[in-house]
Amino acid sequence: MRKSYNFTLIEGAFFMSVAVELDHITKAFDKTFAVNDVSLTIEPGELFFLLGPSGCGKSTLLRVIAGFYRPDTGVLRFDGTEMNNVPPHQRNTGMVFQNYALWPHMTVEQNVDYGLKLRKLEKQDRQKKIDSVLDLVQMREYHDRPVNTLSGGQQQRIALARALVIEPSVLLLDEPLSNLDAALRQNLRNEIREIHSRTQITTIYVTHDQVEAISMATRMAIMKDGVFIQTGSPREIYQFPTDPFVASFVGETNFISGNIQEISNGMVTIETPVGLLHSECVYHNFTPGQEVTCSIRPETVQLNQDSSLNQFDATLSHITYLGRVEEYELMIADQYSIKTVLYNPKTELRNEGDTVNVSIPPQSIIPLPIENTN
Ligand code: ATP
Repeated sequence: MRKSYNFTLIEGAFFMSVAVELDHITKAFDKTFAVNDVSLTIEPGELFFLLGPSGCGKSTLLRVIAGFYRPDTGVLRFDGTEMNNVPPHQRNTGMVFQNYALWPHMTVEQNVDYGLKLRKLEKQDRQKKIDSVLDLVQMREYHDRPVNTLSGGQQQRIALARALVIEPSVLLLDEPLSNLDAALRQNLRNEIREIHSRTQITTIYVTHDQVEAISMATRMAIMKDGVFIQTGSPREIYQFPTDPFVASFVGETNFISGNIQEISNGMVTIETPVGLLHSECVYHNFTPGQEVTCSIRPETVQLNQDSSLNQFDATLSHITYLGRVEEYELMIADQYSIKTVLYNPKTELRNEGDTVNVSIPPQSIIPLPIENTN
């Protein structure tokens, strides 16, 4: 792998970001394969998310990168240098945990100073770095407060400062916002993005919150049962999911199942219980007769629009007014319930029980292979 020399200088601090390479990493606990043969390169300066449901192996992988766990097989490299045998404190990683993990009776400054003291830096240099990092997380005025007198959001800012003050080449964040309320989470998301954009540290962020991942990530990996199901930018993952699990875990979607009837001229025709669906999304090597499920995002389903393809009569079975949007549940052919949304709903246009015409653009129907469990 090429050596990278990516660095950023911000007042009083010097950040050098590295590439993190996972090469067939496996980590098992007894018979549980928490991480199962995963490979990926996270480029210098990325804000990379590991996203997946509880128990999929995100934290275990983060701990392998931090050095708290040694992989059973595979190689971890930072900028091409093998790290498997390098102890955590020599990896130059900073870590932030969900529960802050601060020393409660020490002051803000003492907490942030801890890692610098371990590195035996002179008092004067330490003070400069502490001031600079407390400015970065906007907490300098709290420098002499014991951390147990701070709010949750303020404590997490200090945890971030403590991780950043050692000028790590990789920043590891394990569900850092999960203990905070919704408004604070939104604020801190923006701040973490801002800090990342100023420092350009390679950052690996674990979460099960898809909104957090979509709104912050440069790229992300969707994990399930210890493996990566799909990696890509938030737009790629949302617009072009390659797997039904990804389509339903990231955002909301409708599924209509059927069998491939024909593939020609970049168009796939799928035979389904509601009729033929025509899709322009041919991302897999389908064969006629193959069983698939079609992912259709609610916001792409149109009501009463002229269209020559993918038109169906439907009954409006349920309407939910949510202010910014109105959600409609529609029943097609008495057997498929699908959702659509209407933005900026001003007046009551429709009632439950109404018959409507539904159309779905061919570029919004994404046929996905169904895993063969036989
Ligand atoms: P969560 O979002 O709930 O934290 P996660 O995706 O981070 O979940 P992990 O904590 O990495 O998942 O756990 C992955 C699997 O490995 C789970 O089945 C878990 O029970 C198991 N596991 C994790 N750590 C250990 C351990 N120290 N000993 C035994 N099993 C473990």
